[in-house]
Amino acid sequence: MRLPACLATLAFAAAATCATGIAQTPASSSPSPTQTQSSSGELKVYFVDVEGGQATLFVTPQGESLLIDTGWPGRENRDADRILRAAHEAGLAKIDFVLITHYHDDHVGGVPQLLAKIPVGTFIDHGPNRELDGGVTEHGFAVYQQMLAAGKSRHIVAKPGDVLPIAGMRVTVVSGDGAVLDHALPGAGELNPACKTSEIRPLDNTENARSLGVEITFGKLRLLDLGDLTWDKERGLVCPVNKLGRVDVLVVSHHGWKQSSSPALIDALHARVAVMDNGETKGGSTPTFDTLSHAPGLETLWQLHASAEAGTRNTAAEFIANPLGTEAGFALKLAGKRDGSFAITNERTGVAKTYRAR
Ligand SMILES: [Zn+2]
Repeated sequence: MRLPACLATLAFAAAATCATGIAQTPASSSPSPTQTQSSSGELKVYFVDVEGGQATLFVTPQGESLLIDTGWPGRENRDADRILRAAHEAGLAKIDFVLITHYHDDHVGGVPQLLAKIPVGTFIDHGPNRELDGGVTEHGFAVYQQMLAAGKSRHIVAKPGDVLPIAGMRVTVVSGDGAVLDHALPGAGELNPACKTSEIRPLDNTENARSLGVEITFGKLRLLDLGDLTWDKERGLVCPVNKLGRVDVLVVSHHGWKQSSSPALIDALHARVAVMDNGETKGGSTPTFDTLSHAPGLETLWQLHASAEAGTRNTAAEFIANPLGTEAGFALKLAGKRDGSFAITNERTGVAKTYRAR
């Protein structure tokens, strides 16, 4: 992969503008230990572009790290290299926790290539693969099992209600293996009026519906990542009462595909910011954009890619990391504070937008 040279050293929330058109592979220099100590005390989140899969890296001020999903297999280490670039920018020499939401290849597929480049302390998942497709999902799970069997990383099977043993932020599991929270999170539990009008859809029997979803809090800042959790499972989380409450940042489920993001969920969450980890032709469905356009409280939709399908419904260009026809792999980067304020930087432009504490 080729990247603008300035990106290798781009400061996290720098407003500097990268020169474009300069292509160079970032040096794989050893991470500086000093980088792991964030002088600002900020939680940093890297929404890594894996072209319609997921790879989201959370790093606490103390340098504790959680990666949610690993992107795709193959592609000459493209996704592992992109994750590694974020990890090195954060000063990591190891990823403490890797959470696999489910066993589709755009989530678990990148595990072997990642492990070949950086050690992982602990893998977290929902347990056995439930999608016996005789194909790519079973294969992806089998390869992942081989990696676990090598014994170099610990392994946790998590279920709804569990609080993961990650220091510096609170990570609560809200869905997993088809089950969802049976109680409301602190401060949540109000009736959700949107349930009355939100369409009811049949059960989804794929691994998507098994996604391990998490709520992450850092002081007053609240983020939600449900992986590819499907429309039918969303209802169990927010109907008739909203067990999740409101969030500051929503990772739009399933890359913005229309099988997720029911109005019942989107209304309940009242997210200030939504980040869609779509590819140009994967996820980013028109109906999801329509739902988000009516989302109460939404200040900004950010996208990792412009969606070819969405046309004029795409968010403003300044909030899109990768325009149509490009594969530079620019990330979106969030820096959050315990008071609930945060900023998001578009790596392509170097420009950040700030969100004040509520
Ligand atoms: Zn996916």
